[in-house]
Amino acid sequence: MLRLKVLASGSAGNCALLTVGAGVTTRAILLDCGLSPRRTRRLLTESGVRPDQIDHILVTHFDTDHCHRGWANADLANTRIRYHITHNTQARTILRRPDHLRPFDDDPIDLGEGLTLTPVRLAHDEEGVTAFRIDAPNASLAYATDLGRATPELIDTCKGVGTLAIESNYCPELQHASGRPAFLKERIMSGRGHISNQQSADAARAIDPADRVVLLHLSRQCNTPQRALDAHAPLGRPVTVTDQIEPTDWIPVAAPRSRAQPSLFEHAT
Ligand SMILES: [Zn+2]
Repeated sequence: MLRLKVLASGSAGNCALLTVGAGVTTRAILLDCGLSPRRTRRLLTESGVRPDQIDHILVTHFDTDHCHRGWANADLANTRIRYHITHNTQARTILRRPDHLRPFDDDPIDLGEGLTLTPVRLAHDEEGVTAFRIDAPNASLAYATDLGRATPELIDTCKGVGTLAIESNYCPELQHASGRPAFLKERIMSGRGHISNQQSADAARAIDPADRVVLLHLSRQCNTPQRALDAHAPLGRPVTVTDQIEPTDWIPVAAPRSRAQPSLFEHAT
């Protein structure tokens, strides 16, 4: 059994908790570590997970909102920090924890006990970002944030996943109307920054998850939960909107769509 709880999502810090199994055998994985170790520990405890149950931290990229600099000094016990090899210099400079750092390349990797991680590389600022598909027996999750744009490779890799967590960063109307400097608007909307509600909804429709869509990294200045929900409503899937401060409820990660089960949108995409 896989369960997801997004502890925080947005430009002030991103961290999601994925647990495997139940009870004393539970192991846990963090997706990004953009909150301070102290706040992360508190949220883990409130979620009923001990910090020593975290065996992996998967990092999408090393911007401060995805990797809090405090992790350089955190007690990591047996936790391995995993990230794409292109981020190796950043990881070593920022975290300085060679014993815990385990870069991966483009191939799927085994996270143990039947869990497989398939990475997808995307353009985001200078160093790019990694999206994850995580498969367990009877459950599969895609976790994709700070996308720049949803590429065909992302859609192919995540197609028919059980539960889709994807960013829905901004509403273009609010982005244009905001007092942000032109260079920042350009950076965000250039295809190397973030994706809009509509781009997110289009990607979700193409990926066509079997169950729930979880919306990540909403801009507080240039989006509202209602605008994100409205864009995703036509898909007809249950939707969870994540928050910068309030963790979500536990979200059971659903089984992927079986090949025999036809997509609702097979002819529409
Ligand atoms: Zn971010």
